[in-house]
Amino acid sequence: MLTSSGLIDVIKEYDKNVDEELIKKAYLFSMDAHGLQKRSSGIPYFSHPVEVATILAKMKMDVSTVVTGLLHDVIEDTPVSYEDIEAEFGFDIAFLVNGVTKLSKIAYQSEKVHQADNFRKFLIAISEDVRVLVVKLADRLHNMRTLNAIKNEEKRKRISLETMDIYAPLAERIGMQAIKDELEDRAFFFLYPSEYNAILVKLDQIKRNDEDFIKNVISTLEKYMEDNGIEAIVCGRTKKPCSIWRKMCKRNITLEQLNDIIAFRIIVNTIPECYKALGIIHVNFPICPGRFKDYISIPKLNNYRSLHTTVFGPFQQKIEIQIRTKEMHLNAENGMASHWSYKDGAIAPVESKNCRWLKSLISVLENTNTPEETIADSKLEMYEDDVFCFSPKGDLISLPRNATTIDFAYSIHTAVGNRCIGAKVNGRIVPLRTQLKNGDQVEILTSPFQKPEAAWLQFVVTGKARSCIKKFVLSQERSEFVRLGKAIVKKIFDEEGVAFTELKIPLRKLNCQSLDLFYLKVQRQDISFKQIRDFVDELESYKHPIKHGICLFGFTPEIAVHYATCCNPIPGDRIIGLLDKEEGLIVHSVSCGKFDKNSSAIIDVSWNDDEHKDESFVAKLSIVLLNKAGSLAQVTQIISEKSANIANIKIENRSRDFYDILIEINVRDLKHLGEIQAAITTCSRVRLIRRI
Ligand code: MN
Repeated sequence: MLTSSGLIDVIKEYDKNVDEELIKKAYLFSMDAHGLQKRSSGIPYFSHPVEVATILAKMKMDVSTVVTGLLHDVIEDTPVSYEDIEAEFGFDIAFLVNGVTKLSKIAYQSEKVHQADNFRKFLIAISEDVRVLVVKLADRLHNMRTLNAIKNEEKRKRISLETMDIYAPLAERIGMQAIKDELEDRAFFFLYPSEYNAILVKLDQIKRNDEDFIKNVISTLEKYMEDNGIEAIVCGRTKKPCSIWRKMCKRNITLEQLNDIIAFRIIVNTIPECYKALGIIHVNFPICPGRFKDYISIPKLNNYRSLHTTVFGPFQQKIEIQIRTKEMHLNAENGMASHWSYKDGAIAPVESKNCRWLKSLISVLENTNTPEETIADSKLEMYEDDVFCFSPKGDLISLPRNATTIDFAYSIHTAVGNRCIGAKVNGRIVPLRTQLKNGDQVEILTSPFQKPEAAWLQFVVTGKARSCIKKFVLSQERSEFVRLGKAIVKKIFDEEGVAFTELKIPLRKLNCQSLDLFYLKVQRQDISFKQIRDFVDELESYKHPIKHGICLFGFTPEIAVHYATCCNPIPGDRIIGLLDKEEGLIVHSVSCGKFDKNSSAIIDVSWNDDEHKDESFVAKLSIVLLNKAGSLAQVTQIISEKSANIANIKIENRSRDFYDILIEINVRDLKHLGEIQAAITTCSRVRLIRRI
């Protein structure tokens, strides 16, 4: 505890013309008033106002405020009245002391009244002079520093909660960062002791392990500033346990994953130097997008000004850097207090500044969102259509919005994309289709056995990924087509009764450089089957093919053709053939799910329009009908009008209002079926119709 002259010495450091007599008088007045009162710890109560006044003096507050610190508890806790103070110290100090007393009463009711309402009262109490709040914060700070003396744990927690919920945010609002940090951390210690200690232990480890890292970053940054002729102070500081804990909760991550525990600060002389320093940082290190904030051009409501950026620093580790001038730094630490000028011993009036600040504050409280964040986020998010992500080594990869991990993989390297089997985003395994967000750190997992899948085309957005996947799929198809082409040629040899031999294929005459190209041309029908037959013909005699409704690349194979009963393809449907050793060729609809789409037995087939004229094909329809007499008759009439036969009808799921029927009809082709479906759909008794 300082003596009155000790306190005067502290004030003299910033205010040479301090009214020493006034301080001494207030010191004695308070000592006298509190008399033999004791604090919970047993020490004289008077030590508390002296400590509060000392905190205020260290914040470089004006003398009236320091005096108020000395007197802040006399009205509430001693027989001294407002009038007594006004008589002794004048209106200004009496007003401030009274204001602090009122604040204490509001805070005391905090459990009974609604918090927001309470907060508003609080604001009204401080709205006339913000110094009331500054004294109250100093008072609370000292109480938090000595909270251990209170034996009742309930009471300690209640006071800590109030500090966390009301006082720390208020300190932040008026820009007193140092006070806010200390209030919050002390409250955190009492509210969550085990979390606090765990973080402290970890921080200690990190600090010890990263000592060299911090030194290196500082010296690297210093060198960049020096090389560019900027006079700067560079420092690194670990964040406070409470703010680390908040981040851990918010992002649901462990301490090891929190890579911005250490924040670096570059303090320069002028505003242009701030931007110059920022430029140097951004030129030399890849920035972590979405984390850049310019609070110099748009200060926070509490007048906080600084440039904030996060970059992948000298050791490819994310580092947070704040750039500001000395003046901004002082302001950030001391807030309101630094606005007062002590030039010539005169104290600049603060009321005009308070007014604007309070209006903003009240409007902030009335709107649930904090406008300063909204403004900062909306104006400073510079690259709206891009997302910026990072490789584990810290390389910046910019991708269009909605880009996925696959896009990221391909943007690293085609081979990485082609072999991508999974991805970790910010250390967690995610599905490949996951869309990336600004600042994500992405690690691609690969396997030499992986191949690109056509399904990826549904969610990739970059041209590179798209073209790489397509190219790969095409090359896969190409070998498939070569195989098919060869099968066709073999078949023709068979038909012609000639033993298959590649040696007899006149490649040069057919203008093909290789056998693969020949087969490919056959498959694409660039070489007609007639051309093949012609040269095969020369080798042996000709056999007549058997006619069929299906053509295999335009020629009819001598194998049995069946239509799959799972999907009932009809002419007009896109179809494929599945070659089965025992059953021959089974024709499925392409959309049928009952066959293996990667099977090597798949043969491309199409309908031969001329050869299925007399045939009819089964189509299955599922219809939901209104449960009324005559509904089914309407449907069957339409079918017969359209000259289709009904092969089978099954009634399923009859309920009070509706019933389902499964109906099999014989149709000529898809067009015929389409007409029937359309006609049935128009029928008033039909609720739903679909082909199955
Ligand atoms: Mn007090």
